[in-house]
Amino acid sequence: MDLDALHRLIAQKLADRQLPHETIARVAGSPANGETCDACELLIEPGQFVMRAGTLHFHVDCLYVWDVARQGLAGAAGPEHAARP
Ligand SMILES: [Zn+2]
Repeated sequence: MDLDALHRLIAQKLADRQLPHETIARVAGSPANGETCDACELLIEPGQFVMRAGTLHFHVDCLYVWDVARQGLAGAAGPEHAARP
């Protein structure tokens, strides 16, 4: 999946609340074991890392895109990142 499509999909999932807007306090990486990415819905291939955030699983890249997109929304929605220009 190209990066533009990934950005659009994750923004859409945030808008639909299929992905959380909240900060996930505990994110842990581990080798993938057949998980499906909750952002792009593709298999996380064996040999890649899966990033676990609560009950969600992400590719490393997808976690990053989600995190950036989420923080872009947080200034409007939550008190924790209110310091946007
Ligand atoms: Zn993914």
